[in-house]
Amino acid sequence: MRVFWTADSGDLGSGRSGDRDGDRDGGRSTVWHCVFRLDAEDAITGFCTDGQALKLATNTFRVELPGAPYEIHPDLLALAAWTVVAPWTRRRIVFDRPVSAELAGAIEEGWGIGAGPVGCSPRAGSGLAISYSGGADSAAVAAVLPDAPFVHFQRVSHPRVPNRWTHYRSDVLARLAAETGRELTVARSDLEFTLAEPRPGYPEHHAVAAGALLLADELDLGGLALGYEMGSRWLGGGRYLHRYTPDNPMWAPHGAWGQAFAAAGVPLVLPVGGVSEAVTMRLALGSDLKDQVRWCLRGVDGPCGTCGKCLYKELIHAAIERRPLRTTITPERGVARRWQQPPPYGGQEMIEYGCAWVPGIEDTVFGRAAAFLNATEESTAWLERCYPPAVEEIPEPWRERIRDFMAAEVGFMSDDEARRVETWGIGTPGTILETTPETSS
Ligand SMILES: [Zn+2]
Repeated sequence: MRVFWTADSGDLGSGRSGDRDGDRDGGRSTVWHCVFRLDAEDAITGFCTDGQALKLATNTFRVELPGAPYEIHPDLLALAAWTVVAPWTRRRIVFDRPVSAELAGAIEEGWGIGAGPVGCSPRAGSGLAISYSGGADSAAVAAVLPDAPFVHFQRVSHPRVPNRWTHYRSDVLARLAAETGRELTVARSDLEFTLAEPRPGYPEHHAVAAGALLLADELDLGGLALGYEMGSRWLGGGRYLHRYTPDNPMWAPHGAWGQAFAAAGVPLVLPVGGVSEAVTMRLALGSDLKDQVRWCLRGVDGPCGTCGKCLYKELIHAAIERRPLRTTITPERGVARRWQQPPPYGGQEMIEYGCAWVPGIEDTVFGRAAAFLNATEESTAWLERCYPPAVEEIPEPWRERIRDFMAAEVGFMSDDEARRVETWGIGTPGTILETTPETSS
């Protein structure tokens, strides 16, 4: 794989009118263009770190940053490109500017990929920014770190790829981020359209940070806070189904990506990595940002209420408010089909939590899942507290304040509760429930 970056002053436009924030250095912006070329051994079908097969659509992408062009450390340009091209790189990657031995070493160590040329000194910074999506998890991070500035990634169309995803309202999410009143930098990019299949999206989960990486010198970043919560970090959330993942290659500090970001002087920081989505939603909806929180990518004036994500988040929302489910979605709908089948489920800990706490769950689309899972208020109590090892892996400059926040606002798990994290996914879900004393019935 070969990677080339160039910059010019320009503007990717928004694709929609009326969504530009007006305070961006007199409207001036810089567009960074990345072109990558596959080597003979590379292939257009590759794999995300989480195992998902990905088909390449095109070999260019752009990132628009506010302000005039400025020098960017080669490791930041290289790592930003790596978050996009890693899935399709088989043997080596050649950057257009020499990178540090530290970054090249992290790529070789983490992926078995030769990286170079080597020839610059490593970078360092000191501040912390939040990669802010507008969802409950990143709003919870904002509540933990009330002074940290936001970097928001906004999807824009790609000139060579037709956009069949116009229902994805990235302009609405960017507007809500601006309405938080927090210090905000928006990075606009079409990098998600490098992905043809399964659909446009981040080639690696870390591509959401491509803009933040290119801004790291300008913002003097020495860390980047992301909203990945306990399910994603420790319970193998999402496509990584239902198992304890202390060595998670995406989010563990000692994993491949953690080491690569640290080598570029922007270590990953997961302030809510020790708490479940029940806690992040409680923190987000109890914060100053509650009116700007939006997890649905479809709605304009509010969440659409009909997509799978809205259904999942409504289950958690109803559970933390101990109230009945409010949804018009019926079991026959495609988005509800998953819950008519037996576990394991992605995000199963939160399905258990919802089934335990929502009154009348048996008469909802989650009724069958509730019968399979048999979760109780006692068996899900651990999901309301913080897993202590998650705080211990926060980089030192920010660890103390995050520990203090968790102690004051959430509380830490007992040893028995921490064992629930560390035995997650061992055996079948049924045997876990039967062998833990608090769920015996
Ligand atoms: Zn929705």
